Amino acid sequence: MEGARILTICNACRYCEGFCAVFPAIERRTNFAAADLNYLANLCHNCGECYYACQYAPPHEFAVNVPKTLAEIRVRSYRQYAWPRPMGNWLTVPVLIAGLAVGIFGARTNVAPANFYAAIPHGIMVAIFGTVGVFVLTALIAGLLRFWRESEVSLPVTVAALQRALSNALTLRYLSGTPRSWFHHLTSYGFLLCFASTTVAAFYHYAFRWRAPYGYLSLPVVLGTLGGIGLIAGPAGLFWLKQRQDAATRDPGHDRMDRAFLTLLFFTGATGLLLLALRETRAMPLLLAVHLAVVLALFVSLPYGKFVHGIYRLAALLRYALERPGAN
Ligand code: SF4
Ligand code: SF4
Repeated sequence: MEGARILTICNACRYCEGFCAVFPAIERRTNFAAADLNYLANLCHNCGECYYACQYAPPHEFAVNVPKTLAEIRVRSYRQYAWPRPMGNWLTVPVLIAGLAVGIFGARTNVAPANFYAAIPHGIMVAIFGTVGVFVLTALIAGLLRFWRESEVSLPVTVAALQRALSNALTLRYLSGTPRSWFHHLTSYGFLLCFASTTVAAFYHYAFRWRAPYGYLSLPVVLGTLGGIGLIAGPAGLFWLKQRQDAATRDPGHDRMDRAFLTLLFFTGATGLLLLALRETRAMPLLLAVHLAVVLALFVSLPYGKFVHGIYRLAALLRYALERPGAN
């Protein structure tokens, strides 16, 4: 297999061992089974540095291209661990179209300004997103368990290793200080703020019986606004960086997955903020339907697209922290 061939060359060469976690992890191995390749591929964040440093990169006859090779393996690992396996990413577009059609034609249009639940009843929203949410969570956990089981990590998980993996993942240690890390932070914290906004709104609804719409300075709206800004700026920046990335270090399959995910995130933020800005107008029911359809499509894509990289990468960093407890 191409991945094993290239990593065997790296293991003999070891020039890049200070670049990222991938190379020290390579050095702990003498052969590379499929599970090892998946682990190493999910440790890589495709910065491309090792390609430019490599004396065996094309046109050398060894043709070593670690970023591209690991990107190809990563995409295969997403499919391999996906649950249910045959489902895959094909579900996203039909769900988006169905959500748009049902929302646009089903939403009541003649409603009072900002009265979301008159346009689409609260019970219907909860039933659809609750069902999809449970399915997505189950699929994500199943994928993570498959990844971890295949890794056959025999070492017990320690709190220190967990802390180190979390810290490396949350601070993007191996990307730190680059424009990509800033846009990545904007995206992931934007996503988390939107999630927090929805959680607080649900708490208001059920615990205090405070119904939406909430004031512009209320906690759910402030969190949602900040999250929406992050979801516009972060994915737009990552998209821009992707366009500028050297084609030699990219895998087309990985690119398609990245772009689909970034597009859904961007439109989640954009339609959410547009809905907030125009919620007092007659356009509200249509905008609500479009926003919910985009969010639903984003949800169903999570276990089968780029989102799982965050989960498998965290698991790979945890494995790395267990393998090298004293590593800096
Ligand atoms: S990427 Fe090239 S230079 Fe770096 S360790 Fe591998 S073979 Fe050596
Ligand atoms: S492309 Fe991947 S393997 Fe190469 S230096 Fe960057 S993170 Fe490490």
